[in-house]
Amino acid sequence: MSNPIAFLDLPRQQKRLQGTIQRRIDTVLQHCRFVMGPEVEELEQRLAAFGGAKYAIGVSSGTDALLMVLMAEQVGPGDAVFLPAFTYTATAEVVLLLGATPVFVDVDPNTFQISLSSLAQRVEDVKKADELDPRIIIGVDLFGQPAPWNELKSFAQKEGLILIADCAQSFGASYQGRRLGHEARATTLSFFPSKPLGGYGDGGAILTDDEDLAAQYRSLRTHGEGKTRYEVEKIGINGRLDTLQAAVLLAKLDAFEGELERREQIATMYDAGMPAGIVAPARVPNSKSAWAIYTVLLPNEEKRNDLQSFLKEKGIPTAIYYPKPLHYQPAYQEHHDGASLPVSEGLGAKVLALPIHPELTDDEVERIIKALNEWSKDNLS
Ligand SMILES: *Cc1c(COP(=O)(O)O)cnc(C)c1O
Repeated sequence: MSNPIAFLDLPRQQKRLQGTIQRRIDTVLQHCRFVMGPEVEELEQRLAAFGGAKYAIGVSSGTDALLMVLMAEQVGPGDAVFLPAFTYTATAEVVLLLGATPVFVDVDPNTFQISLSSLAQRVEDVKKADELDPRIIIGVDLFGQPAPWNELKSFAQKEGLILIADCAQSFGASYQGRRLGHEARATTLSFFPSKPLGGYGDGGAILTDDEDLAAQYRSLRTHGEGKTRYEVEKIGINGRLDTLQAAVLLAKLDAFEGELERREQIATMYDAGMPAGIVAPARVPNSKSAWAIYTVLLPNEEKRNDLQSFLKEKGIPTAIYYPKPLHYQPAYQEHHDGASLPVSEGLGAKVLALPIHPELTDDEVERIIKALNEWSKDNLS
């Protein structure tokens, strides 16, 4: 077996960016303002500019970002929050933490993004049952490609629903010629190390164009603080971004554009080398992905598992995002109304994510493509 390939290569990334990261960290070690130091505000300004939003608020994680956005809308018991069934648990757990009800929506079988027709159906379901108040839609840019934001915006407007963007996987992607960051009332980001803009620990941010909301998020991340330090205006959380994380992210942001280009190059190489029978991810029209994840589709679970073992033997790691839709997970089953969401229910058996990160060399990508072709010759004809 040749050298194993990494699914996420933080050591190589370290080596490439070590100088600037170290300098940024050293500055923090000198001023010692570990909570809300100057790097946090500097990062906020850079994030807002990058995402094309007026305000950015650095927070403790992508999950806490979603939580605070929903807290600001006073989401609670009796509220319905619509979100895709095929996403990471964080999108839905914050809804239940606030006592509201997640209403799961199916996804498009080709792009894996939220399905507009299913969304319309699910809103009708909730209205008909007449038990919950339809309030919020959380759009998720799954795997780094944009959700259908224009359609979501018109639908939300027509129905009087608030639209929130979970951009945890997609910061850096663009939609109809502009960077994601202001398609919704609030956009949440995650800097978990494996996300396209990853820190060296947990971190996140909220982007918004609304000055009043920005002030509310700032208050919520510091225990609901009012105008002065020990005035408690409302119930908040400890949801701040650490200064050290902001320092690392500032160094990473300098290299981010180049990394996004490299991810795009790798996706293009995969697309071109994909054997017949393994389906490359469908591109969302008129957009550019941040390629957090590159997911291919196999005809069925047996083939998918077989390919995964074959690649593993060759030192090529893969991952399955996500094995089950959320409404099949034990924690969510009892909160689901029983609607069937056939696409989300079928995808878990067929998806396989290939390595895609800026440290992959052309040789490694070619090795992966060669392995895919070798396997498909014997298994897919
Ligand atoms: C990673 C992720 C989150 C949560 O972000 P954390 O920073 O890990 O809390 C939320 N939504 C989606 C779609 C994610 O992939």
